Amino acid sequence: MDFEPTARATEHLKRLQEFMDEHIYPAEAVYAAQRAELAAAGNRHHLPAVVENLKAEARRRGLWNLFLPDVSGLTNLEYAPLAELMGRSIELAPEATNCAAPDTGNMEILHMFGTAEHQERWLRPLLDGEIRSAFAMTEPDVASSDATNISTRIERDGDSYVINGRKWWTTGIADPRCQIMVVMGKTDPSAEKHRQQSMILVPVDTPGVQVVRSLPVFGYHDQHGHGEVVFTDVRVPASHLLGEEGSGFALAQARLGPGRIHHCMRAIGLAERALSLLVQRATTRVAFGQELARQGVVQQQIAESRMAIEQARLLTLKAAWMIDRYGAKNARTEIAAIKVIAPRVALEVLDRAIQVHGGAGVSDDFPLAAMYAGARTLRIADGPDEVHVRDVARREIRRQLESR
Ligand SMILES: Cc1cc2nc3c(=O)[nH]c(=O)nc-3n(C[C@H](O)[C@H](O)[C@H](O)COP(=O)(O)OP(=O)(O)OC[C@H]3O[C@@H](n4cnc5c(N)ncnc54)[C@H](O)[C@@H]3O)c2cc1C
Repeated sequence: MDFEPTARATEHLKRLQEFMDEHIYPAEAVYAAQRAELAAAGNRHHLPAVVENLKAEARRRGLWNLFLPDVSGLTNLEYAPLAELMGRSIELAPEATNCAAPDTGNMEILHMFGTAEHQERWLRPLLDGEIRSAFAMTEPDVASSDATNISTRIERDGDSYVINGRKWWTTGIADPRCQIMVVMGKTDPSAEKHRQQSMILVPVDTPGVQVVRSLPVFGYHDQHGHGEVVFTDVRVPASHLLGEEGSGFALAQARLGPGRIHHCMRAIGLAERALSLLVQRATTRVAFGQELARQGVVQQQIAESRMAIEQARLLTLKAAWMIDRYGAKNARTEIAAIKVIAPRVALEVLDRAIQVHGGAGVSDDFPLAAMYAGARTLRIADGPDEVHVRDVARREIRRQLESR
């Protein structure tokens, strides 16, 4: 593996860095103020106007849809440092560049498995940043980390499918721009365990779709919202099925491979931002006669953070390199490992940054508390740590047994 970024990656990185410095960081305070105004007016999930300006500027600069190799021409390894940089301003940069989850995963799925009709109706406006999408797999009534438990029914009825069930943590659904959902459910409960599920496209305005509420995370509401959604006799044309009946599991795997590592790259950027806030505070705050940064204990925290970030970055880059070279399927161990490590490191660094800020760290005057809340969800979303740890262990055991 070559540690030297390619000329293409270096050039993109330079342009993204300029965009971050000239537009993204200065817009953070404007975004916060506009969100507060919208929330006060009862429009908590509406997009603050500043984001559309940022999108236009990013597009003008050619910083658009960088996540999709077939569109951007970038490998996963080239995209990694770009996603990391976006992670430094997690609420603004991914969306401004049309590289935000869950749209990225949904665009990947539509790109890989959508029909010409699906692509014209939903992929094109998603790639243009005109609409947003959601992915509805998790259910409140079953342990959804084991996707074979998913119980929502998708039943064929003539030229249609009829969907009944209840989902939650459907990210993005509360945003008024969200027009399409990828819904996972069972088409054949009697089939083999991994062939029971299918994925289907459901326009958000289909009769029978009801967004019951928006779930906060530690009291924070996401701008796009995490919805609880009830499906009652929701009827869509049979042509809305993605892939074939029974392919839901395989599609979910395809969707989550690169998507998981994008989260990890952004988590490392989040950790870098937290570390720079930590150092900034520690070098400007005096206690017991000297700057905090001169205390050995604080220096230890700074060093531990730097060392952990470097390790996480190396493993993430290796996972990206493996995906490029051998495909997501052959990079499963690395993807599972980094899905555990990157959020863990981000949380460690955030916790230290909060501690060094004292009371300010847990207040809303600084971004750390909200950053911590967001990063904490990464140990659960896209599969909890335990499931990925189990995956790594099982592969390790199999590998060792096979080599005997
Ligand atoms: C902020 C946020 C955004 C999300 N966005 C989406 C989204 O857009 N779409 C979507 O479909 N879902 C989304 N999710 C849901 C997320 O993917 C699920 O919460 C996750 O997969 C776990 O499922 P569960 O909540 O049903 O937990 P359960 O399956 O009930 O598991 C609970 C706990 O059991 C333990 N556990 C599970 N399996 C094992 C095991 N094998 N060994 C040991 N312990 C185990 C773990 O500690 C786990 O956390 C989101 C979640 C959050 C918090």
